[in-house]
Amino acid sequence: MKVGGEVEKSRRCVICEEEKLDGYYLCSFFICLECEREIVHTEVGQPAYNRFIQQLKKAMSSFEIYS
Ligand SMILES: [Zn+2]
Repeated sequence: MKVGGEVEKSRRCVICEEEKLDGYYLCSFFICLECEREIVHTEVGQPAYNRFIQQLKKAMSSFEIYS
């Protein structure tokens, strides 16, 4: 039985687009631990880094509903 007002949010990583339990919020975007680690170990200019940026941009553009 659930008590209290906590609402379980669906945590969908904006990078890999999978639902994960562990991760953190970057502004309004959820990033899972695995992707966070990848980002940390990826240097600017590498293809993987560009992919992260693209995924973030994609997430942001879908987030801008009120523009
Ligand atoms: Zn992820």
